[in-house]
Amino acid sequence: MTRLLAALWLALPSAASAAPLSPLGRAAAETLKALVRIDTSNPPGNERPACESLAEVLAAAGVPYEIVESTPGRASLVARLKGDSSRRPLLLLAHLDTVGVEAERWSFPPLAGDEKDGAVRGRGAVDDKSMAAVFAVVLADLAKRGVRLKRDVVLAAVADEESGGRWGIKWLLEHRPELLDAELALNEGGTTFTRGGKVRIFAVQVQEKEYLDLTVTARGAGGHASVPDPDNAVLRLARALVRLDERRVEPRVSPVARAYFEALRGIETPELSAAFDDLLSDDEERVERGGELLRENPYYWAMVADTWAPTLLSGGFRENVLPSEARANLNVRLLPDTDSERFLEDLRAVAEDAGVGLEMVSGPEGAPPPAAPLDGAFWTALRGVVAGLSPGAVVVPSMSVGSTDAAVLRRRGVAVYGLEFPLSPDDQSRIHGHDERMPLAGLEYGVTLVSRLVTELAR
Ligand SMILES: [Zn+2]
Repeated sequence: MTRLLAALWLALPSAASAAPLSPLGRAAAETLKALVRIDTSNPPGNERPACESLAEVLAAAGVPYEIVESTPGRASLVARLKGDSSRRPLLLLAHLDTVGVEAERWSFPPLAGDEKDGAVRGRGAVDDKSMAAVFAVVLADLAKRGVRLKRDVVLAAVADEESGGRWGIKWLLEHRPELLDAELALNEGGTTFTRGGKVRIFAVQVQEKEYLDLTVTARGAGGHASVPDPDNAVLRLARALVRLDERRVEPRVSPVARAYFEALRGIETPELSAAFDDLLSDDEERVERGGELLRENPYYWAMVADTWAPTLLSGGFRENVLPSEARANLNVRLLPDTDSERFLEDLRAVAEDAGVGLEMVSGPEGAPPPAAPLDGAFWTALRGVVAGLSPGAVVVPSMSVGSTDAAVLRRRGVAVYGLEFPLSPDDQSRIHGHDERMPLAGLEYGVTLVSRLVTELAR
């Protein structure tokens, strides 16, 4: 998953606090370190050794598991602690693959898997091996203590999330759907806002934006560069991109975004809090004013607007030859209620002219998935657990501007809730970046939270 952060949070002091680890926290840290030392950067992924490492934790506690291979080297682990089946299963979903690294920009070896400055260090330490480690040790602990469960608790530590899930969640749903049958699921994708080391907002992801890739292709006359023809593909493309950039986009506040901004009022800067107030009001002028302020904050803007960004550019083949074609990839993130076909038509109307065309190269698979329910037993349980760990913290639903494996499960009717183990803004910014690390304090919080929450939901 990806994330951007509001300037405010980046300016806050680090949330790290040194506290001794509980036995469960220590087990999570050791499991995480072992996982981080295994290179699962995707491509190629190669998740099987990571499955085997997790399997040791489960086997030691007698939890039955299966390692399912989708294609050579690509594997997912599914473990199941049986309940009495009076309720449908609870799924704990994490992914074992990671994004790659620019090793020369790291200050320590990316596969270090060690502990320094109160954190487990290395690629995947947060995203998402921390969740895989916590889920595994919690499952093992439930088994060891012989806790009686009303439903199966299933751990799925899957391959290939970072490349769209073809060899992971999607493969499992297609070939072994019975393994993932569940009423509700815990996953990555939430956000915590901390201040002075304390969690102020615990945001739970219930919905995601839709991911699309578009190609803008411009054609030109070509020919010798010594006699420039005004009909130049690169210039046509550049002009089309500028027209798209200048296209006016209006904000739209979904019910999830509304609940999220309401919780942030008074915690964000006075300026942004006022912008949220305006945006949520019934007054047209105020909505307009709030929207203008939000435009200057890319993260919050992305929660209320369809966005696009050029990400790849190509054209020409020789320095002294005019290109006959130039292309740009536009990475698009749509709000869940945006009609992708209509959005495409709107962009075409702006971008296309005689020499420019716009095509969708990949888009959503079917209708947008429904948001996970915003009330019910999950919320009662979570609010109780968070109140115990972080008195005064606000639990609130949120929408991810990035994407995770949750969407495919939500399409199949599973209520998926995305969590985050508390991270400082600095540590959040390292996800998919350099020097990724998981603070032990966040891991301890995570293991306590998940243990209490799973017990509450499954007992
Ligand atoms: Zn992830």
